[in-house]
Amino acid sequence: IIMIQLRHIDKYYRTKLHQTFVLKDINLEIEKGEFVTIMGPSGSGKSTLMNIIGMLDEPSEGEYYFAGEPVHTFSERKRSDLHKNNIGFIFQAYHLIDELTVYENIETPLLYKKVKSDDRKRIVSDLLDRFNIVAKRDLFPHQLSGGQQQLVGVARALAVQPKLLLADEPTGNLHSEQGRKIMELFQKLNQEEGITILQVTHSEENAQYGGRIVQLLDGMVVSDEKTQPISANS
Ligand code: ADP
Ligand code: ADP
Repeated sequence: IIMIQLRHIDKYYRTKLHQTFVLKDINLEIEKGEFVTIMGPSGSGKSTLMNIIGMLDEPSEGEYYFAGEPVHTFSERKRSDLHKNNIGFIFQAYHLIDELTVYENIETPLLYKKVKSDDRKRIVSDLLDRFNIVAKRDLFPHQLSGGQQQLVGVARALAVQPKLLLADEPTGNLHSEQGRKIMELFQKLNQEEGITILQVTHSEENAQYGGRIVQLLDGMVVSDEKTQPISANS
């Protein structure tokens, strides 16, 4: 089953004199259950591609099908609905809300999704339990280590039970040991729960947790290879 299909995607910005291309003729298919890593130098278009796939941004040209749905024809409202019901986003700098507790941060996407109070309680409690952060539930983000903040970021992304998890440099602000834990968690979510994962990273080591590496250069896909994922138990 194909989850993501991009056909001839361009993204450009216009100024008075120039048209600057950020993405050029991107053609990409990602199947349900894949764990894909996007790599490439700074400025090659990785974040822009992630934002388009995550429906936070629109392509200038081309077609985007998500689980067969033609996202490129959707209104902003319809795109936003598709996004909030299907996609979990994880950021390098966590993007937690400083004024909200751990519990409230994880609950936020469920409020947007208008999930009922009882269900919200159950889902958030399960996630706190599962990530061993029950004791931190009433703390604020600044009272946590980076690794713990990113765990909350992952829990928040998982709250809506997403079909697709998008992570833009998820370990970029973490020490290597904390980063490894997040990567092992991603691998588990992918292998045991079948969640499709798309991550951007500069780290060769992180890339090894997935099964496919797509290289971007100057807004174009210059390589796309299947790889053998390393085993967390080895
Ligand atoms: P973003 O699009 O999120 O700003 P960038 O691609 O600009 O991300 O890079 C994020 C950070 O990673 C930058 O500070 C950049 O200097 C750094 N970086 C770039 N290349 C590498 C690399 N090969 N290894 C480690 N860090 C890198
Ligand atoms: P990466 O994540 O690989 O570092 P980005 O997708 O963040 O790359 O950016 C790719 C290019 O797009 C960069 O050269 C950046 O300057 C340009 N870009 C991003 N957003 C805009 C914008 N709003 N207007 C003009 N150029 C932009």
